[in-house]
Amino acid sequence: MQTESVFQDPKLCRSLLERLDRVLNGQSMRFMEVCGTHTVAIFQSGLRSLLPANVTHLSGPGCPVCVTHDAEVAAFLDLAGRDNVILATFGDLLRVPGPGGSSLKHAKAQGARVEMVYSPLDSLRLAVGHPGDVVVFLGIGFETTAPTVAATLLTAQQRGIDNFCVFSLHKLVPPALRALLDDEGNGIEAFLLPGHVSTILGLEPYAFLAKEYHVPGVVGGFEPADILLALCLMAERRRDPAVVNAYPRAVDNAGNPRARALMERFFQPADALWRGLGRIPQSGLVLRPEYERMDAVRRLGITLPDAPPLPGCRCGDVLKGRLTPPQCPLFGKKCTPATPVGPCMVSTEGSCAAYYKYSE
Ligand code: SF4
Repeated sequence: MQTESVFQDPKLCRSLLERLDRVLNGQSMRFMEVCGTHTVAIFQSGLRSLLPANVTHLSGPGCPVCVTHDAEVAAFLDLAGRDNVILATFGDLLRVPGPGGSSLKHAKAQGARVEMVYSPLDSLRLAVGHPGDVVVFLGIGFETTAPTVAATLLTAQQRGIDNFCVFSLHKLVPPALRALLDDEGNGIEAFLLPGHVSTILGLEPYAFLAKEYHVPGVVGGFEPADILLALCLMAERRRDPAVVNAYPRAVDNAGNPRARALMERFFQPADALWRGLGRIPQSGLVLRPEYERMDAVRRLGITLPDAPPLPGCRCGDVLKGRLTPPQCPLFGKKCTPATPVGPCMVSTEGSCAAYYKYSE
């Protein structure tokens, strides 16, 4: 079996860079990745500085907290103020600024019961330990996260844990890709498709990219050679667009049917709000009607409030590929990882944080 180090081999990477240059033959290619892990991998490995000058890398809506809409953050903050409610969340969400610059971290400092968890299953332990309260897991993330949350719901059901529910704001990648291609002004010519999400989805949900938009999409892994191979295949398929799997050691073309079945058992698609992209039809996951007790929205009567956008923050334009982070007037000045104004600077997977940390 090959080890990961094979995919970091400088000779292999150099030959792939040469292949990319040869295939492009002086033509430009503007590609977008939509996965926070790709964002970090491209910067951290130094690949970005090695790419030919005619290749433009755009970092799209691939980081869960970055795509979470202001109205959704405002709803989390409303919820944090309720009696007998404990919020369970992944750490990144704690620092995301909401209306007026407040965040769940601020709410916690002021006494709200907000607990950071490393796995959705941790929130079940919280529920068992606090039988007089309702534990709400804040469900953000994509098709990779949703099956783990579905597994947690199944466990809660099997163990009869009634004081647990999920505020599901999960988002689906393929509808967002369609919205990005419908958005004029970003000039996307190809997609580096997310390796993790594709382990669940397989290739079929992306078929429309080539069929309807004549845009190639390549599923890529996260080592430098994985990414470079994906870029070569992307360049090679520009004249004859197709969706290609360049990460077969992790992604089966059919995806993971068991994970999808589990996800579909508890969730169904619904329209969802995305930062920057607005409301995208059938791009989110909500609890199915039969799971009303486990659905925080219906159990606790949650509605999404109107929320003003974060003043001066251009995260929406960054996520759409219309702007690079340094083009935001606040980048590196008012907005840094220590003093983030928007979510793209909060998350370690956010484009602004990656630019700040690794960019020349
Ligand atoms: S630099 Fe800060 S303010 Fe500007 S888009 Fe990024 S997160 Fe928002």
